[in-house]
Amino acid sequence: MSLKSSLCPFCSKPKTFIAENRQWAIHLAGHREQIIQYIVENLPSCVLCSYPTHFNEKSTAAAHIRWNHKRKELIIWAFQNLDTIIGKQLLDVPDGSNILFCK
Ligand SMILES: [Zn+2]
Ligand SMILES: [Zn+2]
Repeated sequence: MSLKSSLCPFCSKPKTFIAENRQWAIHLAGHREQIIQYIVENLPSCVLCSYPTHFNEKSTAAAHIRWNHKRKELIIWAFQNLDTIIGKQLLDVPDGSNILFCK
């Protein structure tokens, strides 16, 4: 089991958050709207479509993601891209460390 330590970039008051992958996924599931906002604000096209779908307007971009992609797809994408979203690498934490949750 590997633990990842990082700030959760989607919490309104970021706290350091250490968890195993599954717990990160559960936590990120609560941030669906924030993840959609992140993609809309920071990326020129839909990262979840197999062929990049360019966004013409932010309002339609958010609707596109909301209606065309499952929550699970968003969570997996966010988890795999946490390093990029946060701007630094996630740290692996030795087993036995205290597990902290930001919620
Ligand atoms: Zn969070
Ligand atoms: Zn899409």
